[in-house]
Amino acid sequence: METARGKVIRSWSAQGGASAPRIVGGHGCHFQDAEGRSYLDFSSQMVNANLGHSCASVQDAVREQVGAGATLGRPWDLAVVHELADRLAEVTPGDLNTMFFAGSGAEANEAAIRLARARTGRSKVIARYRSYHGSSAGALSVTGDPRRWHGEPGVPGVVRMLDPYTYRCPAGHPSPCPVCSGGPHLEELLQYEGPENVAAVIVEPVTGSSGVVVPPDGYLRSLRETCDRHGIMLIFDEVMTGFGRTGTWFACDRWDVVPDILTCAKGLTAGYVPLAATAVSDRLTDWLADSVFPYGLTYSGHPVACAAAVAALDVYRRDGLIERAAALGPVIESHLRRLADRHPSIGDIRGSGCFWGLELVRDRTSREPLVPFNPDATAAEPMRRFSAAAFGAGLYVLTNGNVALIAPPLIISDAELEEGMAVLDKALSVADEYTTP
Ligand code: PMP
Repeated sequence: METARGKVIRSWSAQGGASAPRIVGGHGCHFQDAEGRSYLDFSSQMVNANLGHSCASVQDAVREQVGAGATLGRPWDLAVVHELADRLAEVTPGDLNTMFFAGSGAEANEAAIRLARARTGRSKVIARYRSYHGSSAGALSVTGDPRRWHGEPGVPGVVRMLDPYTYRCPAGHPSPCPVCSGGPHLEELLQYEGPENVAAVIVEPVTGSSGVVVPPDGYLRSLRETCDRHGIMLIFDEVMTGFGRTGTWFACDRWDVVPDILTCAKGLTAGYVPLAATAVSDRLTDWLADSVFPYGLTYSGHPVACAAAVAALDVYRRDGLIERAAALGPVIESHLRRLADRHPSIGDIRGSGCFWGLELVRDRTSREPLVPFNPDATAAEPMRRFSAAAFGAGLYVLTNGNVALIAPPLIISDAELEEGMAVLDKALSVADEYTTP
């Protein structure tokens, strides 16, 4: 496009390619582009639109707060910030009762790491390879997947451990494997790193965009016990998995393991306004006593975002959406298993609630992935063609590497699920073309 000044402006969609659609609106579980085409949202956008695209209660709360005061800025003085902190503490596990607010998941993780370092006086942080924690310097440094590469060397002091990735377990899970059991692998790393130097271990309890890796039972507890033995802070990044996504309020609830610090975002406002929280245990805040932790951003606890979150929390409860997500888990799983009977490209199905990963392969026996973990444009072609086939037929599915994220809004109806699965069925035929006969 040429402007009045004669500048040629490249479309922002350079990130999405010149042919990227122009999305203009949404309703329920669908959204529409400028040409009037409608798409069923099977990934809740960035796995954040938990309540769909037209939740009246959240929309009203945003409008009301804009009217009442959107520019009131000292978060600690605002009634709506206090209200949200209390309401959030009602649903967070264990004694995670103190909230620090921020604008994004990355910022929430930055706060978590800083708190852990300050509390322990140690500097190292142990994170996992298959993980994403955000795009700011610290959050990207603890991220393990290749999105971190361009930011390296990053913030010093990060050590990585392997993932409880049972589908590709090098030691042949389910035989007792130190990596998939959690604690033994961590304990071994600590021998080399010195536990007295390690401030925190940060993990996504169920890995999100790096492959929907669900740990075996006992894994998180084993990490918890190992951290406790060495006075290390355990941080759970629930930015993607919080607020019913996996069928419980937080993914860690399934195993009844409480971290020292839990970060959340996305589902907190169901995507209507950016907001994130770092929920901190009483044990940690008791140490802070009356001193103020030097943390804050201009928009820590923006009133409009907090009002949206209060309304979203109401809706989750009022409409029983956590229970609904839990009930949808087996329904989604049986749809996906039926698809696996027909499509050799489906290598693995894993997840719970409204959070599922379909791992696509070229060969089920060898488990050769459909595309490598970090494919270049050519190698990515099969996955690109698969998601384009779905999108072209009106279904939005987020993919990363060889994994498709099936993560619809928690309000999705049975009929909409069937509609989406029928399109997925067709799109998977494209992936099947790359499988070995
Ligand atoms: N942690 C996890 C697990 C995430 O999935 C994301 C974003 N996808 C982030 C952190 C970063 O959140 P944000 O993009 O809001 O900074």
